[in-house]
Amino acid sequence: MSKNTYVIGFPRIGEQRELKFALEKFWAKKSDLSEVEKVAKALKQRHWEYQKNAGIEYMSSNDFSLYDNMLDMALTLGAVPKRFATLQNEELYFAMARGNKDAVAMEMTKWFNTNYHYIVPELSLDDTYTLNAQKILTEYKEAKEYGVTPKINIIGPLTFLGLSKRVDGGDTYELYSKILPVYEQLLQEIAKLDDSITVQIDEPIFVKDLETTVLSLIKPTYDTLANVSKNIKIAVVTYFEHACEATKILVNTPIWGIGLDFLYGKENFDSLELIANANKTLIAGVVDGRNIWKNDIEQSVKILQQIAFHVNKENILISSSCSLLHVPFTLQYEEKMNPEIKNWLSYGVEKLDEITLISKIFFYSKEALNSKEQEYLSANKKANISRKTSPLIHDVKVQERVKNIGKYEREGEYEQRIKIQKEKLGYLPLATTTIGSFPQTPEIRHARRQYKNGNLDQTSYENEMKKYIDDCVAFQEECGLEILVHGEPERNDMVEYFGEQLNGYGFSQNGWVQSYGSRCVKPPFIYGDISRPKPMTVEWTTYAQSKTKKVMKGMLTGPVTILNWSFVRDDMARSEVSKQIALGICDEVDDLQKAGIKIIQVDEAAFKEGYPLRKAKVQTYEDWAVRDFKLAVSSANQETQIHTHMCYSEFNDIIATIEAMDADVISIETARSGNELLKIFAKVGYKQEVGPGVYDIHSPRIPSVDEIVTQIYSLLEVLPKEQLWINPDCGLKTRKWEEVKPSLKNMVEAVRIVREALQ
Ligand code: GLN
Ligand code: ZN
Repeated sequence: MSKNTYVIGFPRIGEQRELKFALEKFWAKKSDLSEVEKVAKALKQRHWEYQKNAGIEYMSSNDFSLYDNMLDMALTLGAVPKRFATLQNEELYFAMARGNKDAVAMEMTKWFNTNYHYIVPELSLDDTYTLNAQKILTEYKEAKEYGVTPKINIIGPLTFLGLSKRVDGGDTYELYSKILPVYEQLLQEIAKLDDSITVQIDEPIFVKDLETTVLSLIKPTYDTLANVSKNIKIAVVTYFEHACEATKILVNTPIWGIGLDFLYGKENFDSLELIANANKTLIAGVVDGRNIWKNDIEQSVKILQQIAFHVNKENILISSSCSLLHVPFTLQYEEKMNPEIKNWLSYGVEKLDEITLISKIFFYSKEALNSKEQEYLSANKKANISRKTSPLIHDVKVQERVKNIGKYEREGEYEQRIKIQKEKLGYLPLATTTIGSFPQTPEIRHARRQYKNGNLDQTSYENEMKKYIDDCVAFQEECGLEILVHGEPERNDMVEYFGEQLNGYGFSQNGWVQSYGSRCVKPPFIYGDISRPKPMTVEWTTYAQSKTKKVMKGMLTGPVTILNWSFVRDDMARSEVSKQIALGICDEVDDLQKAGIKIIQVDEAAFKEGYPLRKAKVQTYEDWAVRDFKLAVSSANQETQIHTHMCYSEFNDIIATIEAMDADVISIETARSGNELLKIFAKVGYKQEVGPGVYDIHSPRIPSVDEIVTQIYSLLEVLPKEQLWINPDCGLKTRKWEEVKPSLKNMVEAVRIVREALQ
């Protein structure tokens, strides 16, 4: 075992996504629960085996979950919404997660600023909460039977409350006195398991700007929990940002350890003196748990030495910066990747060896390493040097161009631009359009796959895509839509499509990361300077334009979204990487416009996802995110109309920023909230045009003409017709043609009726 090594949590979906497949088979009623349980048991053992073999001292139990840890915690505390009251066991569990025929699923939302989504517990003052510790106790026993002694991970009470919602209205922290006793009971049960046991209590909520009520609960909570049993050592862990305010309080409670992230929360260095004085154990997050780059071992040792300047070395545990849930499982199955690039990466399993090697060097010395470890260290050094110098990463031309950007903004003020555009494009008030994609049929998915695998030649592939585009254009004309799109059949994903055509972008074969439940994503990664070797969308768009006299809207993904949905290189600031992407998009905008495309939409679906967790850092993000959106469209002439699209509905906090992006038209996702969320646009006197989605594309339901008419009138209560566009609230790629066709026809008809009435 390597001294003082610690892993906050391990990925659980399985190295070949075994859990996903077992769950989906069970849900499809093609297997029974015992099969899922068998897979789950084998996976847990495998995860312990990996960690044991690597020599990790503190590994976890209860980091596994069949769906989500927050859901598990809700069940542990007996927080079951009333609509599921008649259900039990797995039926209850999966109904809460996914709904059933009688009850809708619980809501799901993003886990801090990651792409993991948790189930939002629903609480109510008149509910009673009772302990069900079975899962937690069983998993610990399983580990012991297997032959390891893990810590037990649980989500802390303040994070649990902070992330829950009240179904009866009111603040979730009002339920504190009902919930805390259940945590006490839980710890009492845990204490019976062993003579000495470590409990990791995750409190990531501590890295946010905390309200005084929450701050005031930290001390009573941890005084209480740390006093439940002498058998228990409590480690309160935080991650993703600094936790300076909470740390100040935690050091004055009888807990054993505090976990801090030294990569994403550099301010945590300021807490070291306090931790040292209180003689607490410090779980020092130094190996990146949310990115895929190889650790620079010597650099990490230096960071730890800096920490040890304050905190007694013996009290330092070397840890991942957060749970390894947020990185793919193992590099082992990446068979197709360029070996030079692969050599720069490190997934979950590989990070374990990094942690143990750092421990050996930190606690002993480089000289104490055996020959295999020496080799590992020198390979690590070489890989890091290669990243600093490789021509695959460093492109002088790109760097020069970034240094010499002369123009960050397009020409002309909005008022002047829109006048020219309206004249030239000649669209009516309440102009109709769509967000870009049309249904991705099994046929086009198949053709794309075949082409990628080399089983379909380029001409046949292009013909098939063109046929689809022809159909899209024909349908839109027939339907009477005014601004057309080509339908995006060639795109598998709005980021991947561009990533594949940009230099500096890499793709993995097996880099799956759990997004929610059984769903995984495989984010592409940015390893080097980004450039666009040639036009990416011009051919498809101009082909589509050639098929119609109406205006064809070009469709691009914006720099901020491309960045936020990728793993990003860590040897350069995100704001610089974003600038490079923006220049690539800027060239594309220019090429499209030169090819005769008059409207270009630059999607920023993930603009909001990049927001920092701390308010103090928001301004900086907004500054560069807006800068780079504007840079991406800075090549647009005044008469080229720039649209953007955002998959959001909440703009209250960020409306000034949205306005500053200065898109001529923005389409947004407001269908489910009537005109409520549009009001902020009117309130701030938003000038540019807005296309609030008039129907929800996330459901197969076909909206009626009447319904859309009503919706349009409600929009007209907020904004004048000259400022409004009419469109669905997102792309249509997940829908079927049978749903899309009547829905859009109804939408166009609704506009006709409203226009006529307004005459
Ligand atoms: N243009 C994209 C589409 O229609 C936008 C998708 C999105 O915003 N998520 O599919
Ligand atoms: Zn959208």
